[in-house]
Amino acid sequence: METHTPTPTEPTTPDADTTAGPADGQSAAPLVAYYSDEFHSTGIEFDTTVKSRLVAEALLAHGGWTLVPPRPVDAGELQLVHDADYVRAVLDGSPRDLAESNCIGWDGALWESVTASTGGVVEAAIRAMTSGRTTASLSSGLHHARPESGRGFCTFNGLALAAVMARHAGAQRVLIIDLDAHCGGGTAAIIDGVDGIEQVDVSTSSFDRYAPRPDARLEIADHTTYLQVVGRVLDGVADPSGIDLVIYNAGMDVHEQAGGIPGFTTDLVRARERIVLGWAASLGLPVSFTLAGGYSGSGLDLTGVAALHLETFRAATDMAA
Ligand SMILES: [Zn+2]
Repeated sequence: METHTPTPTEPTTPDADTTAGPADGQSAAPLVAYYSDEFHSTGIEFDTTVKSRLVAEALLAHGGWTLVPPRPVDAGELQLVHDADYVRAVLDGSPRDLAESNCIGWDGALWESVTASTGGVVEAAIRAMTSGRTTASLSSGLHHARPESGRGFCTFNGLALAAVMARHAGAQRVLIIDLDAHCGGGTAAIIDGVDGIEQVDVSTSSFDRYAPRPDARLEIADHTTYLQVVGRVLDGVADPSGIDLVIYNAGMDVHEQAGGIPGFTTDLVRARERIVLGWAASLGLPVSFTLAGGYSGSGLDLTGVAALHLETFRAATDMAA
């Protein structure tokens, strides 16, 4: 895959569609994260919809990133990975049990919210692939959604859709790295039998577990083995230089105060981000990442969870520097 890398000795300028330039006009162009207020336009108050705004605010304060509103995906695009009946149910709210199979509920603004959030995942993926630079989307609630329904706080599977649309845009191989605390069974179901898309998944919970396959590897780890397992799984990716795009589901719900289990500290997730993004950088692989899980109520409030997500952004900007 041909990529464009800014020449380090020349000042770079942000692309035309970015919304803010570097603070001093001298530093490297900021990395791009997709986000718009539509991400949380649903009236359903749930961490996965609300925290995008908090992460956006924290990112603007942190610097190094530009926020870009994505184009929402449409029903036809969603049908690349979801059944038409399910897509229609989320649009119309009927039948209600199918519309609410995401386990968080349905309201008249859910469609606008999830199509914007899913659009962010897709655009981040395509942009990473075409620019060669790390991108992000402040999207959550993706990997449990399967073809016929939502599940486990996930409405649409933006990871699988982004991978499929990246393939349509010319990628030969797309690797999804899923390090959310829970297993990515929805993604595994969607990519089963789809050429050119593979997943590696290290989880700390057996929720949404699936039978591992060569194209969907799954490991369950605890805090004593976690970083070793992550490193081993990445090292086990066959012919990694042939990958055109990495989509990273960077869940923070492994953290002991964000929904995870004791022993998963901030230092541990910080080290994880450096292993994952360092692995991709060492191979020259473009990465787009999403927020994924990370919840208030087990020690951190939602602002604290948003701050934890910044670990991924920090690792990415450090690698890009
Ligand atoms: Zn999770």
